[in-house]
Formats: sequence, C-alpha cells, structure tokens
Amino acid sequence: MEEKCPSFSSTYFFYLPLQSNYTYNRVTMKLLLTTLLTFVCMLSVQAQSFDNYFEDATLRLDYIFAGNAKEQHIYLQELKKQDKWAGRKSRLSEKFLNGNGQVTVRDHATQQVIYVNTFSTLFQEWLQYDEAKQVDKAFETSYNVPFPKSPIDVTVTLTNNHQAVVAEMTHTVDPKDILIRRIGNNGIPFHYVWKPAHAQGDIPSRTPSDEPRNGSGRDYTASAYDPFKGVDFTGCIDLAIVAEGYTEAQMGKFYHDCQRAVDALFEREPFKSLKNRFNVVAVAAPSQEAGPTVPHQGVWHNTPAGSHYDTFYTDRYLMSQDMHRIYDLLSGVPFEHIMVLVNSDTYGGGGIYNQVTFSTSDHPTFKEVFVHEFGHSYAGLADEYAYDDMDTEWYPADTEPWEPNITTLKNFSTKWADMMPKKQPIPTPLDPKVPDFKKVDKNDPKAMAALNKATQVVGVFEGAGYQSKGCYRPAQECRMKINEVEDFCPVCTRAIIRITDFYTAQ
Ligand SMILES: [Zn+2]
Repeated sequence: MEEKCPSFSSTYFFYLPLQSNYTYNRVTMKLLLTTLLTFVCMLSVQAQSFDNYFEDATLRLDYIFAGNAKEQHIYLQELKKQDKWAGRKSRLSEKFLNGNGQVTVRDHATQQVIYVNTFSTLFQEWLQYDEAKQVDKAFETSYNVPFPKSPIDVTVTLTNNHQAVVAEMTHTVDPKDILIRRIGNNGIPFHYVWKPAHAQGDIPSRTPSDEPRNGSGRDYTASAYDPFKGVDFTGCIDLAIVAEGYTEAQMGKFYHDCQRAVDALFEREPFKSLKNRFNVVAVAAPSQEAGPTVPHQGVWHNTPAGSHYDTFYTDRYLMSQDMHRIYDLLSGVPFEHIMVLVNSDTYGGGGIYNQVTFSTSDHPTFKEVFVHEFGHSYAGLADEYAYDDMDTEWYPADTEPWEPNITTLKNFSTKWADMMPKKQPIPTPLDPKVPDFKKVDKNDPKAMAALNKATQVVGVFEGAGYQSKGCYRPAQECRMKINEVEDFCPVCTRAIIRITDFYTAQ
C-alpha cells in the first residue's frame, strides 16, 4: 500500500528556486480578455435564468455512498437550507469536467436541466483497494446546489474509470418540505483573510478575535450586523479554510497560517493573475486537542473535522471521512471550495475534485503541497507522476481520462494537441539535459533553472496518473508531478484559468 496513494500529492517534495515565465502570461491575458467580453454579453440573460428557478440560498444535499467493489449504492440522508448562494449563477446546466460523479438538478414540472455539478469521491477511490473486495463500507458526502423556487428532481450518478454509470439515484425535493433543516450561524468564528481589493475595508468578521465587538463605531447587534457586507459571491470563487487541530488558544496561529496559505496560492501564476476572483474565508473551528490524529503512532485526537493520517493505510494520506461534519462546520458561511488546514509539521495531505483539500501547516513543503492539492480539488487536475510497480489500471486505454492534464491518447485532440510545438514527437522523449529531480542539488541555481524550464516545454511524456505505461503528461516536470518545481505546466495553467472562468461566469 505504501506509496500507492491516489489523489494525493507527489511522493517527491522539497524546495523551489526562481524562474519567471512568459508562456502563461500570454495565455492568461488572452483568456481574461475573452472572459470579460463574454461576461458583458451574457450578464442580463444569465441572471434572469438563475432567478427564474432559484432563490439566493443553498440547498445542502447529504448523501451516503455505500457498497463494495462489485456494487455501489446512493442514499439520501438529509436536506438542509442555509442563506445565500456562493456558487455560479451562470452556465448552470453546463458540465465543465466529467469528474467521477455528477449531481443533476431538473425542474420537476418540465424536466429541464437547470443545474449540474461534477465531483470525485473518497468512496470511489476506496473501491480500487483490496478492502473493497472483502467488505461493504459507507462514506458520507455532501453537495450544495442553489435552493429551488419550485420542486426539483435531483439525480446523483457515480461512474467508473471507463466513465460508465455504475450507480444512480433520483429524488424529488419540494422546497416547501417542512423537514428541510434550516441551518445557519453555528457560533464558529470566521474571518475573511483575502478578498479582492475593491471590496476591502468593509468586511467585518462575525465574532472576530482581532476586531473590537463594541465601541468601534460598528454595530454588531444581530439585526444590524451583516458579516458579508461587500462580499461579491457571484463574481468571486469562495474558498473556505477550516481549522483542524488548532485549540482555541491557537487561533492566532491559525489565522497566520491561513495568510501563509493565501500567500502560497497567489504567489505564482496562474493564481497570481486570478486572485481578484477569489474570496478566502478562515473558519476558526476550535479543537479540543492540539495537532492531528496519527493512527500509526496510536495518536487519536478529538478534532473538528475528524481527519487522520493513514487513510487506506497509507501513512501520509491525510483525509477525513466525516464530510457531513465538515459541512456542519461551515454552516452559515457561503462557500464553494473547502480547504482543511491541519495543525501539524508532519508531511501529509490529499485533494479530491470538488470535495475537499487537506494540507498540513508546518511542514517545510507546506506551500508546495497546499497548491498541489488545491490543483486536484479545484481544477480536477490529475497527478502527473507514475509508480513503477502500480498494478491498478487507473486509466484504461479505451477511455480518455476526464482530467485535463493527462491523456491515454484515446482522444488526444480534446486535450492539449493545440498547444503542442510543431514536430514534437508523440510520445515525447525525456530531455536528457533536464536534471533528475531526485538527485538535483537544490542549491545549484543552474540545475534548478533547468528543472523549472522543463515545466514549460509541452509534449506528451509517458508516465502519469500513477501509471508508468499508457498514460501521458504534458510536460517533463510540473507542480502536479513534483514539489521541486515552482510552476504548473502550460496545460495545467490553462485548465486552472478555464475553470476559474467557468466558476465566475455571470
Ligand atoms: Zn501540469
């Protein structure tokens, strides 16, 4: 099991030197311009469409996915409603990436598709392990969709690695159902650690540790105080960073760590140019005990998100199976993407597309791991590394993977064929001038520059998605492959820009 950890960061990590990049600047500018024009044209039409079907509130769908390697089942657990909708209000019925599963919302009366979202799950990852051949297990998951004005039919589907549907369940939701639980302020303090410049200066926290409650000229009484005043939910992607393993007394450290996370994310492209399209809110869920749960050391801590190392018996795979609990920590905070920051200096983490990211705060590779895992959960990027001894076929040859940064060459024209340099052979041989990242001297600027340069040469390099054969990556090195390099490859960069455009379409 060791070192066979899907959806987890690179096995290989450490350091990063400097190298500026021109390729994605050009791509960024072009795409930003296109987005701007699209926004202007579509603004009025899309807003109308959202308002026809939805109110400015969130319907939280709690499910249990259960089964074994042979059969999988989907169960509805509970419906919840909370104020405000933080997700996109446009391109509602579009599917941007396939993911390994999908939530489809139809208007009950007309059966018109009015909202779609895709995702991956820890459950589907578990199905690949031997344990799934021996025992039935249940995994929690939750999805937010905009709250409907009229009855809707919600269909949840799970697909296998051939992208065939293996489980499906449809249920009707009547917005007038009295058993839809109302959720909201849970008393957990939160604080915006990043918001675009145009909104800054007018976003107080709900119960901030660093702002005066009284006598500051602000009225914090329940009726007058709006913690979200000035927050642009529609034009921005809402990231929530949740504290895990921080005691009440350590919340100053948590806010500081969140700031480091924000700095790490926006330090390099493409997020640097996109940072005004993000809000980042820090949710200070207090832990009864400091630090994480580490099963292989016999350490079990009572922490808010219930996370632990040793997921699927891989020591560095840090994840939680308590997704409902994590969503509960966020009730009252409109969000789209969850990052759980674990108060630990031990290497670990994990990221699942449109579900959750886990990262530790104090490991030397904190920045690199955080950005890498966010690449998984936010943009659906696959790992670009391979294992020599991987016996599971994650990406079968008869199927083009849905992840934008890997290919089986089944349908390469849908991937980065348009970004290939002329006469670049397929597969592309490794450039022998690029140093081996496992042996490179990190204090040698020349060697590190050569390594970083390799991230920007597009090709079709064999070895990706944990497979050394039959799966290909777009660059010799990339942030989705190793932690030693600074940048995403141009293909990952484009994928991040495109999905950001999609999420912020108005
Ligand atoms: Zn890449």
